[in-house]
Amino acid sequence: MLARKGWSVRIHERSPAIREIGAAISLRNNSISVLERCEAFDRLRPEGSLLSREQHFDRRGRLLQERVTTGQRTIILPRQILVEGLAAAAREAGAEIVLSSTIVSADASGALIDATGRRFGADLAIAADGLHSKIRAALGLHATVRELGTRINRFLVPTQEFTTADTKVEHWSGERRVGILPAGPGRSLIYTVMSARDQAACRLPIDVGNWTRAYPMLEPVFKLLAQQDTTQFSYPLVRCRSWHCGRVALIGDAAHAMPPTLGQGAGLTLMNGYALSELVSGSFDVATALSMWETAVREITDATQRWSLRYDRITGNLPRGLGALRPHVIWTIGRFKPLYERMRVADLGLPLIEQKIREACGPRVT
Ligand SMILES: Cc1cc2nc3c(=O)[nH]c(=O)nc-3n(C[C@H](O)[C@H](O)[C@H](O)COP(=O)(O)OP(=O)(O)OC[C@H]3O[C@@H](n4cnc5c(N)ncnc54)[C@H](O)[C@@H]3O)c2cc1C
Repeated sequence: MLARKGWSVRIHERSPAIREIGAAISLRNNSISVLERCEAFDRLRPEGSLLSREQHFDRRGRLLQERVTTGQRTIILPRQILVEGLAAAAREAGAEIVLSSTIVSADASGALIDATGRRFGADLAIAADGLHSKIRAALGLHATVRELGTRINRFLVPTQEFTTADTKVEHWSGERRVGILPAGPGRSLIYTVMSARDQAACRLPIDVGNWTRAYPMLEPVFKLLAQQDTTQFSYPLVRCRSWHCGRVALIGDAAHAMPPTLGQGAGLTLMNGYALSELVSGSFDVATALSMWETAVREITDATQRWSLRYDRITGNLPRGLGALRPHVIWTIGRFKPLYERMRVADLGLPLIEQKIREACGPRVT
């Protein structure tokens, strides 16, 4: 987005290739709108599945609740396809991507220092270096970084036999959840979520007998998953007092990693990145623009992070005895529109952020 606005952009990536782990990703309305604005969505759309329905079932396969998504777009895309599409769009806009380039430090002037000691001066540096950001530490931007007590396994499988082309299905049993989503032609994303205390559920490869006891109807799914490779992830949390220092901005998980319960970690990263590119391309100096940027985007991000934590508590960590209430709590939030809209403020957050940018910069943003 910066390169399209005439900036000279260089991206330092420590890996020797543009690659992702973690199966597939769900991107909601705000992310799709940003991808459309940088003309990356058309190439991604055929590779993903647009959802129009969400269903929750109990362990015996009884429908607990159903939501038809109207006016809200969600696409499920293989992560590798997303990062390759973004890299191609960046290169087409003129950005240079330097692979095998690890940044170890930065200073407030916007300079980056790589692992060989080389210093790269810049008008603006953006640290999108993830959960354990080295740049955040180098700038002294104090952050709380936590690993929560929920674990998730994700699998990208070459079949859609366990769902339909437009429906997300979640199966609930005690503290465990199994999600099945279409993820583009002939593919599905399947995830299993459990407490870190539940050692049998955390075992990899999947323990088919144990999981089948929790979900008798899903035995064929677990048999398939037992043959697949995956990496288990913890739900992360990063809380950072400030997201900028001089001419350096922190973005993405480096600034605000959150449990993936609302599917908005990357979505907020895209949306906040869009806002940043608009504000630093206005008529303010970079340090002032970064301060305005944080003011414009922080509220929606912080609210979404709080709700993603609440959702994790409700779905996984309710006190013993209250577990049976879990589907009812979620059902009530879904039915009570003002509450649901607060929880999902990021999904429709782009117009709110654009309004704030317009107030700051004048009516240039459309
Ligand atoms: C289980 C799980 C499921 C999720 N599901 C969703 C979802 O459905 N929808 C959604 O919107 N979000 C989801 N998220 C959140 C989303 O994955 C993250 O918010 C997003 O990947 C953050 O992107 P990022 O660029 O900030 O960090 P990362 O994805 O961590 O990328 C950081 C990049 O920086 C590179 N790097 C790191 N350090 C250095 C360095 N020192 N020098 C150079 N390069 C460096 C890394 O190699 C990497 O390429 C999920 C997260 C988890 C854990």
